[in-house]
Amino acid sequence: HSVYRSRPARAVIDLNAIRCNYQLACEFSAGGKVLAVIKADAYGHGAIAVAKALSGLAPAFGVACVEEAIVLRDAGIAEPILLLEGPFHPNDIQLAAKYGFWLMLENTTQVDWFLQADISAKVGVWLKVDTGMHRLGLLPHQVVDCYSRLQNCNKVAGDIVLTSHFACADELDNPFTSSQLSQFESLEQQLSGPASLANSAAILGWPSTQREWARAGLILFGISPFEDQRFSEQLKPAMTLESQIISLRTIKAGDVVGYSASWQAERDTVIATIAIGYADGYPRVVSSDTQVLVNGQAATLAGRISMDMLAADVTHIPNVAIGDRVELWGRNLSVAEVAARATTISYDLLAAMPARVPREYL
Ligand code: PLP
Repeated sequence: HSVYRSRPARAVIDLNAIRCNYQLACEFSAGGKVLAVIKADAYGHGAIAVAKALSGLAPAFGVACVEEAIVLRDAGIAEPILLLEGPFHPNDIQLAAKYGFWLMLENTTQVDWFLQADISAKVGVWLKVDTGMHRLGLLPHQVVDCYSRLQNCNKVAGDIVLTSHFACADELDNPFTSSQLSQFESLEQQLSGPASLANSAAILGWPSTQREWARAGLILFGISPFEDQRFSEQLKPAMTLESQIISLRTIKAGDVVGYSASWQAERDTVIATIAIGYADGYPRVVSSDTQVLVNGQAATLAGRISMDMLAADVTHIPNVAIGDRVELWGRNLSVAEVAARATTISYDLLAAMPARVPREYL
């Protein structure tokens, strides 16, 4: 029942690349387990497809909320699924017991909900500590009491996993990570049991944060979390955002292109119009020197990004034709580079990829 597709804009997702990146995360976490973070539709790559591709490799998945977890269960994903931001309502605890989700309890209200919950099955619990990010997590002085009440309530499946999240692990010279780590270690000295600290940046760059569990998100999709893109030669970008040229014209020196007539040709110029725009997740705010790859060759944008189209100067590219392939980001042009030109980060562009763009899986 294949869908008729005429518009060429698409995100091609290489599931084997995601498996390779997962293995790399495991190598860096040798001795520890790696939970695959696939919240926000697996950072735009499609949570069901990614979970199926990692099934049998990843011992557990992480999502933002119970809604995201139920979608995976209903699709037949059988592994434990951790709700990374905790229950938002006591009913989430009932659903966790029913569906086999794990809960990240991160404040005393959630701990109380859990202790009061009348549940028919035990639930896996991760207990989150605020070691300095001050977004989520119990304050350090609340941890030991919550931990022992949970341990004694007879409703927790397996061991409680003590966990925290880093604010600055992508900055390898920032002492904040060491400060968070030492705060965490002082609690570990009081509590025995498994722990989890590392996100992608810490998996690659902070080996001292390795514990029983790591939580890998961005690197699964083949993107370095570091500004200088270190480790990217070992990662395989999983998403290629591509489209095609749908129109071509030669304009004269002095002619303008696009909305606001903001771009002016300095010489006679061949302009290619490409079927992808800001409604397809291509950021409207990119700087004017941003490039796309036309038949594998770099071409600079010409003028504003429209809702469904953008234009590039292809004067220097021989034999361009309607239907030629254009890569907006992917294996040959990093999403990190486009993100930098849009003054944002790869996470933002990937997670914002709208449903309008069909995902095609390799
Ligand atoms: N752990 C938690 C609690 C998170 O919220 C996230 C994502 O923000 C991750 C791990 C994965 O982070 P990253 O994509 O940087 O690996």
